[in-house]
Amino acid sequence: MSKPVVAIVGRPNVGKSTLFNALAGERISIVKDTPGVTRDRIYADVTWLKHEFTMIDTGGIEPESKDIIISQMREQAQIAIDTADVIIFMTDVRQGLVDADAKVADMLRRSKKPVVLVVNKVDSFEKYMADVYEFYNLGIGDPIPISSSSMLGLGDMLDQVIAHFPEDAGADEDQDIPKIAIVGKPNVGKSSLVNRLVGENRVIVSNVAGTTRDAVDTKVKFHGKEYIFIDTAGLRRKSKIKEELERFSIIRAVAAVEKADVVIVMIDATEGVTEQDAKIAGIAHERGKGIIIAVNKWDAIEKDDKTIYKHKEKIRQTLSFMPYAQIMFISVLTGQRLPKIYETIDAVIENNSMRVATGVLNEIVTEAVAMQQPPSDKGKRLKIYYVTQVAVKPPTFVIFVNDKELMHFSYTRYLENRIRDAFGFEGTSLKFIIRERK
Ligand code: GDP
Ligand code: GDP
Repeated sequence: MSKPVVAIVGRPNVGKSTLFNALAGERISIVKDTPGVTRDRIYADVTWLKHEFTMIDTGGIEPESKDIIISQMREQAQIAIDTADVIIFMTDVRQGLVDADAKVADMLRRSKKPVVLVVNKVDSFEKYMADVYEFYNLGIGDPIPISSSSMLGLGDMLDQVIAHFPEDAGADEDQDIPKIAIVGKPNVGKSSLVNRLVGENRVIVSNVAGTTRDAVDTKVKFHGKEYIFIDTAGLRRKSKIKEELERFSIIRAVAAVEKADVVIVMIDATEGVTEQDAKIAGIAHERGKGIIIAVNKWDAIEKDDKTIYKHKEKIRQTLSFMPYAQIMFISVLTGQRLPKIYETIDAVIENNSMRVATGVLNEIVTEAVAMQQPPSDKGKRLKIYYVTQVAVKPPTFVIFVNDKELMHFSYTRYLENRIRDAFGFEGTSLKFIIRERK
């Protein structure tokens, strides 16, 4: 199920990172599990009263002059408007209301996105509350006093944020239509691919219900089946600063990936797979989405009988954390293998939501254990009692064992491979949870 996206916007030093860390807590460390994924604090998973959402910090590097602050804030606000379901706009009671706040508030108001206005650094209500009222002048609703560093007022703020979340997806008629995000570096051919796939199949152009995005997602009918391509046009946005540009393109990728069932990671055949490709692919992997790697511009390179093999090997190496990803070599220009994309999307979605019966699963695992003995340590051997699938999207398995400490990741990997051999699961990650049975 896709999670709502919440973005934080505000001037430098108002306390965005502090709030981000306070809300994200340890969950941020999840990012570290995937090699190639940015370690930057760009996004995090937050849970509040059973609600889960993805939080994005749009704040980037520190600008040096006032002019830059304003232009950078506009940029941040625009990204938030394009990608978020709800925007937290943060101001600072100690600095009071400043011109840049008013400018950003105007932008946010015009966007009609839900905005939660917070006034930070209200460490003491007696001392600062009188100064909070001034922020009503922004005309974007009631200011909520908080203190990020002392974690005061965060509950009230989160209640407001959650109140703006899109209605339960149960009412959403588009809920069952596969959603596809196409991500990749600028100029790799994303827009060209969407245009080609959509082509004469374009039937309706609409907002995807259940999201409040202004961006237009495209619904397509192919062989009687509907698909929604999530808009990533905003990825074209320019910024002069290289780090900013990369940060912004990652933020947009996170937001698009969050809403998608399947992510097509596009790679330019003429450039090969890069670190930035790995970062973006890593996000899709972490989110447990179905993944297709499309190597585009296949027409533009010289080929012999080993070219495909060499490309595959390089991709497998750079994206070694996702050996399950489907790789396709395409040319949007000539149309080579494009019809196969829909077929692959269908297959990947099916695998991403496949359930296997516990009986068969345990037969496979028992056989695997017999073929390769589980690891042991100091005379104690790992025992695997039982495996069961507990979730889909991605398929998630709980393995019951005698002692968690004995479960080496290479043995989990071995079991994963046996399960993949037996059931397929191409194009989707699998999650394993190890539990001790007392
Ligand atoms: P950002 O640039 O918006 O991400 O701001 P930071 O989170 O880096 O915070 C800027 C400064 O404000 C840091 O020195 C923080 O310790 C401080 N700060 C953040 N939140 C609070 C708060 O609630 N109260 C006070 N007194 N200081 C805070
Ligand atoms: P985006 O920035 O990822 O959306 O990339 P575009 O779709 O705008 O494409 C960037 C450039 O690559 C355009 O000039 C396209 O014509 C070109 N392009 C896209 N697909 C192909 C392809 O399969 N082969 C070749 N040779 N060029 C392509």
